[in-house]
Amino acid sequence: MKTFACGDIIPGCGSTFTADDEAGILAQTRRHAVEAHGMAEPGTDSDGPVRAHIRDAA
Ligand SMILES: [Zn+2]
Repeated sequence: MKTFACGDIIPGCGSTFTADDEAGILAQTRRHAVEAHGMAEPGTDSDGPVRAHIRDAA
């Protein structure tokens, strides 16, 4: 399992995401970046920073 806390790159955001793999995290964070942070569709600009902060969950 992988986990990502949006607050690691967007201070003040309390959203967290969990998925079986990195792709599953990115699918969620792309939508979140657009809907919660006003990034342009499809939000793939967030992939790099998100990847750098994805952690392994037990
Ligand atoms: Zn966020």
